[in-house]
Amino acid sequence: MKVLVSVKRVVDHNVTVRVKADGSGVETANVKMSINPFDEIAVEAAVRLKEAGIASEVIAVSCGPSQSQETLRTALAIGADRGVLVECETELQPLAVAKLLKAIVEKEQPQLIIAGKQAIDDDCGQTGQILAALCDMPQATFASKIEYQNDLLTVTREVDGGSETLELVPPAIVTTDLRLNEPRYVTLPSIVKAKKKPIDVIAANSLDVDIATNLEVLKVSEPPARKPGVKVSDVNALIQKLKSEVNVI
Ligand code: AMP
Repeated sequence: MKVLVSVKRVVDHNVTVRVKADGSGVETANVKMSINPFDEIAVEAAVRLKEAGIASEVIAVSCGPSQSQETLRTALAIGADRGVLVECETELQPLAVAKLLKAIVEKEQPQLIIAGKQAIDDDCGQTGQILAALCDMPQATFASKIEYQNDLLTVTREVDGGSETLELVPPAIVTTDLRLNEPRYVTLPSIVKAKKKPIDVIAANSLDVDIATNLEVLKVSEPPARKPGVKVSDVNALIQKLKSEVNVI
């Protein structure tokens, strides 16, 4: 079974994000960029399927600028077999990414596509679902467990009331939640080995896909600073404070 994993290059989760002085977006120049954490989990899940003899090949795909090759190298160091960069210098919205991924899915014909449940930069949580609709494939989002037996994928997914289990007939799309796995520590030898793995670069405009956005960012600003809290002496004082200030009781 061929597995395709989508990986996005995002601002590293340890970086304090700063808004650009002109309010047009967030600062990404000279900022540490990394693989989206949910995508790292997705690559780990795919590599474990390969190690279990279920997946035959793991392909990592990223859509973005040429620097996204670094993100693909991380996926290759975790254990993906090869990478595909859909190169595009303009900012992409989830619909555009899903259209580009669909073009790669048509080319590669994977039986399983694993994406993150959300990218931590835009927090959209849309791409996997849109891709499932565009490809007319079954989907299981927020997966905390993936199993494959008798040509069926069994996915446990996190829902508000706990968890539910879905069975999917491949080809199918799964998006990862935090509890799915803990990605392995990438060792130096695997980083060196990853340098020799192939990455195909495909220009986004060669895929005959409309990636224009109809979203316009008017202004990006910092959230207002939080007011300092106060300490109350006991529960009665707390209730009095809530009554007088918050008007909730
Ligand atoms: P989003 O809908 O933007 O929150 O992203 C959800 C998931 O879609 C991510 O975790 C990635 O797996 C995938 N994705 C989003 N943008 C890209 C991109 N530019 N390149 C590759 N995969 C992406």
